[in-house]
Amino acid sequence: MSEGKTGAPHEGPFLLSQLVEWIDREHRNEPGRIIGNLLDALRRSPYYGPLVAAAEKTHRSPTERLRALPLLDRDTFYRHSPPLSNDILTGPMADAYVYASGGTTGQPKFALYSNEEYKIATDVLGFIYSTAGLEAEDVVGNIFLAGNLWTSFNVAGRALENIGCLNMPIGGATSYDMMIKFLQAFNANALVGLPSVIIKLAEEVERSGSNVRIRKILYGGEHLRAPTVEFLRRTLGCELVRSAGYACVDTGPIGYQCTHLGGSLHHVLEGYQFVEIVNPETGAVRNDGEPGEIVSTNLTRLLMPVVRYKTGDLGRWVEMDECACGFSGKTFELLGRCDDLLVIGGINLLPSDVASGLALLPVSQNFQVVARTKNSRDLLVLRLEASRPLSDAQVLEGLEHGSYKLAKAIKDGWLNVEIEWLAPGGLPRSVRTGKIKTVLDERHG
Ligand SMILES: [Zn+2]
Repeated sequence: MSEGKTGAPHEGPFLLSQLVEWIDREHRNEPGRIIGNLLDALRRSPYYGPLVAAAEKTHRSPTERLRALPLLDRDTFYRHSPPLSNDILTGPMADAYVYASGGTTGQPKFALYSNEEYKIATDVLGFIYSTAGLEAEDVVGNIFLAGNLWTSFNVAGRALENIGCLNMPIGGATSYDMMIKFLQAFNANALVGLPSVIIKLAEEVERSGSNVRIRKILYGGEHLRAPTVEFLRRTLGCELVRSAGYACVDTGPIGYQCTHLGGSLHHVLEGYQFVEIVNPETGAVRNDGEPGEIVSTNLTRLLMPVVRYKTGDLGRWVEMDECACGFSGKTFELLGRCDDLLVIGGINLLPSDVASGLALLPVSQNFQVVARTKNSRDLLVLRLEASRPLSDAQVLEGLEHGSYKLAKAIKDGWLNVEIEWLAPGGLPRSVRTGKIKTVLDERHG
């Protein structure tokens, strides 16, 4: 944030309260007014207008009216969005950015941000970077992927301006040789980027014996698991590895990590997003700490409003008293994609169950699990990358040590596991995003 440059404290809560005040500057003394402001804008949208009118008949307060609007799934959102329809918009497509969205497969979909909304979103990201530990003294390589109407490289670049650091727009499609040369030339000590690119860079640094040392890593777009963090500490000498907040392109940033939060715990960006967790089957709001789908409403997106949007991400509320950072709002744990929850061999398997076993083995921490049916039993195919494959027995032993759930399902004969080995970098990456799809379910019926 600009406060950092003028010598004001870098402390998280100070910045967040400044930000919320700034977003809500016209109505800061009227609680609920920011939601009311959003509802006013929704009336101008042919899609939202009738829904808001119906909610106004049955509910009084702005928050109740917001909660009375239907959940918005991705397909409905895009069916009413450009290029298919302009119904979701509240005004003309001008003075705005258009970004690609819509997941890793199929036709690209689009998200519009007015220029003002874009500035707010990148200021929020700048706040997240600053809270996570980036400072004006840092030299930061931006190795998010650029081009193709993607947001991450652009928004990271503008967020870094707010930090006041030396900003290196390297891009994730640059060859790893060149990346290392650029980082060395300016003694870069920090990276922002996608985990699969950062992991590949670390592998290249290790292979080439380069002296690149990166003290701080802020990642986004994929999950980075504890064992991988250990690998980055070992190969790059990282002291600080943090999620650069939790965001999805349709909603913008949703949550962030202060320096007191570990694992995948995130504080809600209150005043910017209204976050709910719902039962993925019934849509009922969950406040019991059980896993559910994260649903978010961006309170400042008025051109292309995103209201009660189903993110497809799995999370649960975490009870905590006021955090040591001073935050007293809601905190959630991010558990992965809803699609990543695999009910197989009688267990609920999450990618983290496999990752904790792999952490015990000398293999690349990138992997893919494929669920299949074989002889009417569940089969889990585990695809791994290594230049020298281990024996199946070694891998199974690691998996069983890493997860008691997996150990039991294998021991009880409910689940068979087969290992497929690929050369380093051999796992299929999405051409559009560079991400690995961690979980595939090829069972039918
Ligand atoms: Zn905190």
